[in-house]
Amino acid sequence: MGSSEIKNFGILGNPVGHSMSPRIYRAAFDAAGFPNYNYIPLPVHAGKLYFAVEGLKGLNFRGANVTIPHKSTIMKFLDAVDADAMIIGAVNTVVNDGGILTGYNTDVYGFLAALHEANFLIEDSNAVILGAGGAARAILWGLCKRRAESVIIGARNEQKADALAKDFLNYGHVEGFDWYSYDFHEMMKTADIVINTTPLGMYPEVDDMPPVDLSLLPEGALVYDIIYNPAETKLLRTARELGYPTLDGLSMLLLQGRESYRLYTDELPDLEVMKAALESGLHIK
Ligand code: NAP
Repeated sequence: MGSSEIKNFGILGNPVGHSMSPRIYRAAFDAAGFPNYNYIPLPVHAGKLYFAVEGLKGLNFRGANVTIPHKSTIMKFLDAVDADAMIIGAVNTVVNDGGILTGYNTDVYGFLAALHEANFLIEDSNAVILGAGGAARAILWGLCKRRAESVIIGARNEQKADALAKDFLNYGHVEGFDWYSYDFHEMMKTADIVINTTPLGMYPEVDDMPPVDLSLLPEGALVYDIIYNPAETKLLRTARELGYPTLDGLSMLLLQGRESYRLYTDELPDLEVMKAALESGLHIK
């Protein structure tokens, strides 16, 4: 525990100015007695990603988080990619072991750990995912991996929902729908969990929410929004007022961060320190 050695970390993306990661990791490093661990925002234009990745080696970075728009494109520049990240098709964490760069996806870990902490059992459950983008892919893989009975993807663009479902057909019972369709409404009636992966309701558009009728859900269904700013979105407020249990996106964010930290340092950070750093940086708590 603790070290005066200098190590560099950062977050590759564009833009990265809004990222909470520098604040969260710096707080965790300080609390763990690593005052010389630097965590730097690294804005990188798409055409320069190769050079940035090589720069991680040249500048002896121990690791980097990766965010939009580089999560998929970075994979071809890495020396190895772990199995989860390969299936998801996206990397959010890169670890540098003596010049060998390995990519991981800790979003799926964060999602599964957050549901575990909320005592939700995925096995044999019927799940509905709202949205068909990058986070939906990681979550879909997590649900398949933990053997959900069925996963329904509802999105404004049925083709995208369908394409995502087809990518995972070998891993479980997965179907994509237009979220305005009759079939989708019917599926809501048997869902054990609904997970919002769209940005609808995220700060500053806090009055938005996905166009779904939560009252269709069976009693006790969990409504989960992976948005973390605000912690209680309009979707979650509506669910709470209807009497459903809810889960916000803070725990997934923190737990994926904890896993990346563990990959970087072989130690677990103080999650409360990370949480306090995150909450102090959010516009709305
Ligand atoms: P993404 O790849 O851009 O996917 C966004 C999805 O939402 C797409 O299906 C997109 O549909 C849909 N969407 C976007 N705007 C919409 C609108 N106005 N109406 C209907 N659908 C809309 O983004 P992502 O990386 O998956 O991230 C999505 C959200 O998850 C963000 O809010 C992000 O902050 C959050 N997130 C949270 C965590 C966490 O740890 N808590 C981790 C990752 C992501 P189209 O394809 O039709 O555009």
